[in-house]
Amino acid sequence: MKTYAPDYYNDFKCIADKCKNSCCIGWEIDIDDETYDKYMSLRSPIGEKLRNNITTDIPHSFKLRENEKCPFLNENGLCELILTLGEDQLCDICALHPRYRNFYNTRTEIGLGLCCEAVGDIVLNKKTPTRLIVIDDDGETDVPDEAEEEIIKLRDNILSLLSDRTCSLDERVMNLLESFALPDAVLKLSEFRLVFSSLEYMSPKSLSLFSSVTDEKTLTEIEYEQILNYFVCRYLANSIDETEIRVYLAFALLSTNFISALAKNIPKTEACRLYSSEIEYNEENVEIIIEKICELIGE
Ligand code: SF4
Repeated sequence: MKTYAPDYYNDFKCIADKCKNSCCIGWEIDIDDETYDKYMSLRSPIGEKLRNNITTDIPHSFKLRENEKCPFLNENGLCELILTLGEDQLCDICALHPRYRNFYNTRTEIGLGLCCEAVGDIVLNKKTPTRLIVIDDDGETDVPDEAEEEIIKLRDNILSLLSDRTCSLDERVMNLLESFALPDAVLKLSEFRLVFSSLEYMSPKSLSLFSSVTDEKTLTEIEYEQILNYFVCRYLANSIDETEIRVYLAFALLSTNFISALAKNIPKTEACRLYSSEIEYNEENVEIIIEKICELIGE
């Protein structure tokens, strides 16, 4: 089976103690059963600390300290488990984050989530058009699913249209809207103001930031292309049919526009991180936005 990833995938490296918004703070971290059993069987001081700092309820998770910090994040911003046991002993979530994976019959696609500031930096600074490339191939393959192959082909056409720099970005966006019969309204943040004001945010500061954005683009053409490419790669091939592709294309365009507008008041990398962690990584928020999109596009 082939594994595809954006061509910047291998440039990622966690910046650990230099990270201003560590993913070891503020999130519940569930531990997979296999790692849990391994941790519980460790006969060493770190094993003792693990036993005292993991919940007994299922799914097991680290008992967060004050300010929702992981108990293994040390005072230097480094992971005590990596320092003591090594990176290969992390639970699945810690080992994978900020990566995402999408599984299909004949391929796996992986990528890097924008909720990590190091990823935002890579994506925003990428100058050449981003391509999905094969980064692994175990030689095995499954029977292709015709409908799935069609959706992947359609998504790949969208990626080609998006990266065609012989046209201006505005022309490319218009082509996408026309090809999928999407109304301009999906690009207008004013249409979504009430929706964004009603969402659930981790921080009250986000609520005021997200409720006050105006339709103003601050990303350059290339930055906009790269962010839109991220959302297209991450979501569109998961669609079950053309209707869903249409909806997720609108979500990708809206999300990119929103980040572009947010970056009027905060640095661009922070706008990516904040949008991703407050919206993209909150399933309920995404559902509410998708509902509004469906209403606008008549689905
Ligand atoms: S958010 Fe990204 S850079 Fe920061 S600690 Fe997590 S993986 Fe590392």
